[in-house]
Amino acid sequence: MATAEELKRRVRELENELIKCKQRRSSEEQVHARAKIEKMSAEVVDSNPYSRLMALKRMGIVDNYEKIRSFAVAVVGVGGVGSVTAEMLTRCGIGKLLLFDYDKVELANMNRLFFQPHQAGLSKVEAAENTLRNINPDVVFETHNYNITTMDSFTHFMDRISNGGLEEGKPVDLVLSCVDNFEARMAINTACNELGQVWMESGVSENAVSGHIQLIIPGETACFACAPPLVVAASIDEKTLKKDGVCAASLPTTMGVVAGILVQNVLKYLLGFGSVSYYLGYNAMQDFFPTMAMKANPQCDDQHCRRQQEEYKSKVTEHPKQEAVEEEVVVVVHEENEWGIEVVSEVTEAELQAASGPEPDLPEGITVAYTIPEKEETSGQTVEETDQSLEDLMAQMRKM
Ligand SMILES: [Zn+2]
Repeated sequence: MATAEELKRRVRELENELIKCKQRRSSEEQVHARAKIEKMSAEVVDSNPYSRLMALKRMGIVDNYEKIRSFAVAVVGVGGVGSVTAEMLTRCGIGKLLLFDYDKVELANMNRLFFQPHQAGLSKVEAAENTLRNINPDVVFETHNYNITTMDSFTHFMDRISNGGLEEGKPVDLVLSCVDNFEARMAINTACNELGQVWMESGVSENAVSGHIQLIIPGETACFACAPPLVVAASIDEKTLKKDGVCAASLPTTMGVVAGILVQNVLKYLLGFGSVSYYLGYNAMQDFFPTMAMKANPQCDDQHCRRQQEEYKSKVTEHPKQEAVEEEVVVVVHEENEWGIEVVSEVTEAELQAASGPEPDLPEGITVAYTIPEKEETSGQTVEETDQSLEDLMAQMRKM
């Protein structure tokens, strides 16, 4: 049997080996990492990581794609949705990312995207920063390994939201909530209401088959305290989920879809293209995407929300919003387009009407954009039985 002294020596040996492994890995990563790029270019060459993104300008979708570099986005929660969100923003060339999470990577996270088994045990923010910096060294990263709901961390969190912009001292452009519990959402809500900070909320249900995103503009649209999203409101008491051996289900598919619709909304909001969603749900069971807009609730429990509503009201009275001018639909057609494929909206008003079903009972201020269509009786055509042989039938068809 080995003595305690021998075991200690063995542990030291293994620790040294681990350090060497890590060093080797990081130097390998540095060898493969690309140099920083001073200016985004639209040049179509295989070595340009931004050529496909800058092509959005040529296609008439985005006026000024390189503006993406001027924005700072805070991602709170680097789990199943947050990590993929951070990766998408990094690949899109966002100016700065601030990551907040207090968890460690675990093997139990491997059913989701982004993290890898060799990162188990590392803090999520550290592991994420390593991967993301390697993917795109042009992005500025700032990471915070703490729980924003504790008092000290909350004060620090508020400070970073107001001062952690691309230029130190300026606020971030957007806060994204990718957390998995009510308490953390309320903390983000409180901070953003107090600071008048625009943010987007995201969530996936405990049974892994539905999710949502929501844009919150303090004083203008419903905050999290005005009306928590139905998906979250309907979830099981989260304290029962924290017990050992009891956990929420999760799917990489649903989390990937929610991260996708979240970042799509972020890009549209920041770069000013398409229409930004106030609320977009995803129901995987029916493949249904409900959208709606929610006004702020004048009786909201959050005093800063009520203050922001007052300020918004007086701002609107002073500068009434101009009626939105209907935009011309730009039809992008490739020059060599023998099939005449056009890129335009594929749903007509009539189709939307036809897809309307019963409206759910919703609180005041909430309107439904779409409803689940009532299931139609499937009048499937049946094939009558016949004595004819297959050859005869084929011959008949040829004659037709
Ligand atoms: Zn509110």
